[in-house]
Amino acid sequence: MSVAQILTDGDWRPANSGDTIPMVDPSDGVAFSKIARGGAEDINRAVASARKAFESHWSSTPGFERGRLIRRLGELVDAHHDELAKLESRDTGKPLKQSNVDATVAARYFEFYSGAADKLHGDTIPFMSDYQVLTLREPLGVTGHIIPWNYPLQMGARTIGATLAAGNTLVLKPAEEGCLSVLRLTELALEAGIPADAINVVTGYGEEAGAALAAHADVDHVSFTGSPEVGTLVQQAAATHNVGCTMELGGKSPQIVFADADFEAAVPVIINAIIQNAGQTCSAGSRLLIEEQAYDEFVDLLADRFRQLRAGPAIKDLDCGPLISEAQRARVNGFLDRARGDGVPIIAEASLDADATDAGYFVPPVLFGPVPDSNRLAREEVFGPVLSIIRFEDEEDAIRIANGTAFGLTAGLWTENGGRQLRVAKSLRCGQVFVNSYGAGGGVELPFGGVKRSGHGREKGLEALHDLTTVKTIILRHG
Ligand code: NAP
Ligand code: MG
Repeated sequence: MSVAQILTDGDWRPANSGDTIPMVDPSDGVAFSKIARGGAEDINRAVASARKAFESHWSSTPGFERGRLIRRLGELVDAHHDELAKLESRDTGKPLKQSNVDATVAARYFEFYSGAADKLHGDTIPFMSDYQVLTLREPLGVTGHIIPWNYPLQMGARTIGATLAAGNTLVLKPAEEGCLSVLRLTELALEAGIPADAINVVTGYGEEAGAALAAHADVDHVSFTGSPEVGTLVQQAAATHNVGCTMELGGKSPQIVFADADFEAAVPVIINAIIQNAGQTCSAGSRLLIEEQAYDEFVDLLADRFRQLRAGPAIKDLDCGPLISEAQRARVNGFLDRARGDGVPIIAEASLDADATDAGYFVPPVLFGPVPDSNRLAREEVFGPVLSIIRFEDEEDAIRIANGTAFGLTAGLWTENGGRQLRVAKSLRCGQVFVNSYGAGGGVELPFGGVKRSGHGREKGLEALHDLTTVKTIILRHG
């Protein structure tokens, strides 16, 4: 069984402790590989390497040169598309069609950020007549990144692409349950010519490697994607040395269907928004709000399609794969048991493929409704293929319910009424609103992030580069 190593100070090496962690295929529960169990010493070495790289060469490498290296990396990702997609499917249990999308998007991140690396510039500001004021957009320095297991390839690419384009060096801690594609991406980065000391990747447990990274006094910024609880811990650690954080902490995103919507167009998109990656998507459309007078007709249509869905091993490339781990399956089943205990009606369930044995972490997609707005199923992030349907009376009621959770990440809005499209979109408290479409995760150009408990700061698009740089103002009195 191969053991993947960590990249610190320009070299691949085992963890300082020599310990490893088995990597399990979620489709059958069988360990097929091992990763290094990095800890505080490995993080220290990684941060020192990133610091040295930043000070000695990376911060003075011209943007166009950084851009060329990032573009080459994107081309290598494209050239290794099939290999990366298959690895992602084995590691995370995603059906291959999803991993294919992820590999394509990963290459697009590098393409996008390669083009931005030489276009980060400041401004001149009118001031008093005997002064000239200019601003410089500068990198932050050494940046720490803690990413989850749900989209390692996409999130690895967006993090590495944006960070290097902004002129920072990085230490990346992927999730121990899904990180093999990130390690392969890192190998490709070195092949593309990106200096090995500028990009450091330490695998390991969150409480060990992750906590050490968030608390490291020589890290200038921390980006985190994951659960709100761990997000709080990471911010507390970063606050001990007063550095900024970008926090992407999940959601309970509503899909709002008005009676005048194009039902045929809406149904497949709404289904995909909850079954994509078995619902383990921060921007999953996990609440479906339907206008009272359309409720029965829309639910019938949706339930019919839902019953046709099949969940099974990644390799069979069905509608839905397994969850990431036994712990995640137990967590999702806990939500389902409580909802059944509360008497929330099940409208439809998908089926399990014959090859989906109990050794894999399968939960077939399930449709609940009507879910009382006060029930946990309507308010908490399940992170599984579970869609909760809620009725609403009118536009005002829809907005009230949509805004009624602690989260505010994304929303989908289905109506043919142009005035309502804009009115409701403007009233929703979240970071992204899709009108007559929904694209959980996609669109590398589109700023992404939340308000309220969904976090702060933005990933993706040019906006991410603002979070990863700082502005210096030079005030020059020329007399
Ligand atoms: P998590 O614990 O928040 O994990 C996210 C990342 O943080 C992983 O890399 C994890 O490492 C790391 N981490 C864990 N504890 C840490 C600590 N004390 N200090 C620094 N880093 C730490 O999420 P999870 O346990 O995998 O999933 C639990 C729930 O979180 C899910 O059911 C879901 O509701 C939510 N979640 C949301 C997202 C999202 O995209 N917003 C993603 C994942 C999970 P290890 O995993 O290697 O320990
Ligand atoms: Mg795995």
